[in-house]
Amino acid sequence: MADKTIAVTDELADYIRRFSLREPEILSRLRDETSRLPNASMQSTPEQGQFMALLIHLAGARRALEIGVFTGYSALWTALALPEDGRIVACDISEEYTSIARRYWKKARVDHKIDMRLAPALETLDSLLALGAQGTFDFVYIDADKENYWTYYERAIQLLRRRGLILVDNVLWSGRVADDSVQDKDTHAIREFNRKMAADERVWITMLPYADGLTIACKK
Ligand code: CA
Repeated sequence: MADKTIAVTDELADYIRRFSLREPEILSRLRDETSRLPNASMQSTPEQGQFMALLIHLAGARRALEIGVFTGYSALWTALALPEDGRIVACDISEEYTSIARRYWKKARVDHKIDMRLAPALETLDSLLALGAQGTFDFVYIDADKENYWTYYERAIQLLRRRGLILVDNVLWSGRVADDSVQDKDTHAIREFNRKMAADERVWITMLPYADGLTIACKK
């Protein structure tokens, strides 16, 4: 049907990967190491990482903010895409997972671009706001605990410059957002987030059926 997005079969996913993915080797090694961890599904897909890099180039971003780092895969794509004087503020609370991230950032020689803040992200965002960082970020990626999505977003939008981008991951939550029989806390939080985004006139948005669902917002 022409009015719907094509269903991506495994064969088609493989085809897309073969004909579009240009994942640097260091990233594929990190993805491989992460795939052996119990929470491996938290890692962003390679296509998503490459898409973020493209958006960073397109936006001419220099200052990025990442909420939810895990093993640093998307932050590494971001750091590689940023110019030499570009910087990322990366927020996460896991010492264990971010120690893997740091190891790869160093190997890729981009560790100087990443300011890792090991603390609850809300504390980091509030301290940035208290220091007057409003309107100074070009690019924000939100991929952390779902219950705080809207709180993160509200702070992120203040930190973002006009025409800056916010990417939000997992907005389709394996399809559970549209399944009324699913009533857990995380699904509720994402539904609520999507509902508020749909009405947020501070931004232009698009919701892409990409990986686990990706919303892109551009600040007006
Ligand atoms: Ca995610």
